[in-house]
Amino acid sequence: MRSSIESHLKKRLEDLDEAGLLRKLTLPNSRDFSPEIAHFSSNDYLGLAQAPFLQQAAIAAIEKYGTGAGASRLLRGTLPPHEELESAISRWKKAESSLVFTSGYAAALGTISAVVGKNDVVLMDKLCHASLIDGARLSGALIRVFPHNNMRKLGALLEWAANTHPDARVLVLTESVFSMDGDCSPLLEIVRLKEKHGAWLMLDEAHAVGVIGEHGRGLAHELQVSGQIEIQLGTLSKALGGCGGYVCGSKPLINWLVNKSRSFVYSTAPSPASAAVSLAAIEWLSSEQARERRENLWKNINHFGSLRKMTCKPESAIVPIRANSTETANRWSRCLQEQGIFVPAIRYPTVPKGTERLRVTISSNHSQKQIARLSEALGQLGALAPTA
Ligand SMILES: *Cc1c(COP(=O)(O)O)cnc(C)c1O
Repeated sequence: MRSSIESHLKKRLEDLDEAGLLRKLTLPNSRDFSPEIAHFSSNDYLGLAQAPFLQQAAIAAIEKYGTGAGASRLLRGTLPPHEELESAISRWKKAESSLVFTSGYAAALGTISAVVGKNDVVLMDKLCHASLIDGARLSGALIRVFPHNNMRKLGALLEWAANTHPDARVLVLTESVFSMDGDCSPLLEIVRLKEKHGAWLMLDEAHAVGVIGEHGRGLAHELQVSGQIEIQLGTLSKALGGCGGYVCGSKPLINWLVNKSRSFVYSTAPSPASAAVSLAAIEWLSSEQARERRENLWKNINHFGSLRKMTCKPESAIVPIRANSTETANRWSRCLQEQGIFVPAIRYPTVPKGTERLRVTISSNHSQKQIARLSEALGQLGALAPTA
């Protein structure tokens, strides 16, 4: 007889628990909010998620437009905050056109699967985010993975694709800042290679938005290759303190997505409050206060890097502390928590087995004292300074 779904899943959950891989949702308790507790776990790099001006933007939008968009964008769900947000993103990114999704995940899924299909080829970095992997799989394209940031291998794969699939479209997928490693991709070289072979590039700027480059425009702008990147993706949910994702690029790209991106077409438009919050955050990015926050963020990042005696300066607000086993990562995270410091353990399958780690994220809101406390606690645990 077949087992019931409950007993089947219960057994599988017990297996996860035994392997130290069970994940649980926990609500922060009141102690977590006390000023003695230091959190190094959020992607809210500029401290915007609690910003009063964003709360005001949400309240004003709710009062004017209500709480829900009521329908998908194509079915009367489009409201002024959506269009204003898309124009603001295009201006900020200096892109021809932009489209907003309910999440970065939905943007990745819906974009990749709309632009390539089963006769095409996707070449992606080994450490790409799950949303890019899932989008590539959903597209049905032939997928080849290159070792992390390995340009020799990417070059060879581009060559291979040109020889064996001369009629296929070839899409390269990578990130500006890798979400669990905090390093940047060699973007100039990737752009050079994909141009040489006539491939397209989609760049996920999730952890570079707000953090890297003038006005927090991201790595593509910082390196002045924005105009050569066919598809740029980002999230409104991390440094921007809101919720949602965006894609920007040419007008034909965006018009195509409006027609064919299933996570856009068949999903209710983001709430007016959500769009209004992101609009206010994007506009804020070009302000003097944003520049100061970004400077402070980088001061904090570099302070942590020097306290940890990192051989290379950190390239982003994400600093992995390698534990290399589930047990050690869990134990370190627990020990820190007992000292009032929150740093999450990152385990399989988010990262490959044997590369388990603590993932430290730095914010402009951290004090130098909090950063020193974290560094000292890590030293006491015997966590080594990261090497390149
Ligand atoms: C978080 C993240 C996403 C998804 O963005 P959400 O808005 O949180 O859905 C996509 N790509 C990368 C690299 C991310 O880290």
